[in-house]
Amino acid sequence: MLSTRSKQLFFQFSSQIKRLQSTLIIAEHNNEALLPITQNALTAAKKLGGEVTVLVAGTKCGPAVEAVSKSSGLARVLVAESDAFKGFTAESLTPLVLASQKQFNFTHIIAGASAFGKALLPRVAAKLDVSPVSDVIGIKSADTFIRTVYAGNAIQTLTATDPVKVLTIRGTSFEADKLEGGSASAEKLSGEYKTDLTTFISQELSKSDRPELTSAKAVVSGGRGMKSGDNFKLLYALADKLNAAVGASRAAVDAGFVPNDLQVGQTGKIVAPDLYIAVGISGAIQHLAGMKDSKTIVAINKDPEAPIFQVSDYGLVADLFKAVPELTEKL
Ligand SMILES: Cc1cc2nc3c(=O)[nH]c(=O)nc-3n(C[C@H](O)[C@H](O)[C@H](O)COP(=O)(O)OP(=O)(O)OC[C@H]3O[C@@H](n4cnc5c(N)ncnc54)[C@H](O)[C@@H]3O)c2cc1C
Repeated sequence: MLSTRSKQLFFQFSSQIKRLQSTLIIAEHNNEALLPITQNALTAAKKLGGEVTVLVAGTKCGPAVEAVSKSSGLARVLVAESDAFKGFTAESLTPLVLASQKQFNFTHIIAGASAFGKALLPRVAAKLDVSPVSDVIGIKSADTFIRTVYAGNAIQTLTATDPVKVLTIRGTSFEADKLEGGSASAEKLSGEYKTDLTTFISQELSKSDRPELTSAKAVVSGGRGMKSGDNFKLLYALADKLNAAVGASRAAVDAGFVPNDLQVGQTGKIVAPDLYIAVGISGAIQHLAGMKDSKTIVAINKDPEAPIFQVSDYGLVADLFKAVPELTEKL
């Protein structure tokens, strides 16, 4: 049994540890706006407790800095602007993250488990000689995290013993921070962050008036059963009625029906909308890994034995070429 004095010392000590704890979030943005996953990362960081600092690195990233500064309770927003950050390559950003780490000695470094975070943080972790913890879906304490393994088929709880915890968090598992109530000060970082490892030349971004796949409230996805890219127009018509994003299985992407940024699954995007409609998709585990946390799942498939029906809330055994136009018309 601890004496009263020991208990007092223990609580004093643990609150000091908490105060020492500090997290760096690497903001994901396009200079003009924050990407939604940064809001999820903010929620995760605040759950850890301690000080939270956000790093915004870009070319002319003023609007993104302004947006994130509104998040409540931030210690500071670090800002680094340089042409070297064009394209947000992991090679150019890593020296900057390491320099910030050296200056502030963060206990945690967080980014979203997006293509951006998945490229950057393993590199940062390697340079710090620590193990990255990827795809975190829950935070139990400052050193104990819940993550998915085996394509989402098992859930692992692990305690990280490294002095710096480097985490990518799954956006769908943390609420979006509201970006209100705060007025954190922006601190400009100066330095030479050029890298000769890569040179950014150009990028072509697909433009769409539809909601973004990972943040849409409804998603209509098509699989190999769609038979051709042209037939996806049936899904676009349905998606228009629902203000939904359109996704696809890997088989549909591999067959060239749709571009690969539409792929949902283990090697595609992870989505968890309120409504997910899977059309002509069998429900392979690699596809389920990307959508099974959706609130309501609807499946349309002509095969009553298709595994997708095991995870769906509503299943329609029907020919999609008949069912989808009928559904669109009735909405
Ligand atoms: C390492 C690895 C990673 C992978 N990552 C992913 C991933 O990220 N995402 C992903 O999706 N897959 C992924 N896959 C592939 C996955 O294993 C499946 O091959 C793929 O998901 C199958 O796609 P599908 O359901 O569209 O095609 P199929 O399995 O061929 O299913 C087509 C379905 O359409 C139905 N159908 C056909 N015609 C009609 C019709 N007229 N009306 C109604 N229904 C119809 C059929 O009954 C069938 O169920 C990965 C595989 C590996 C090995």
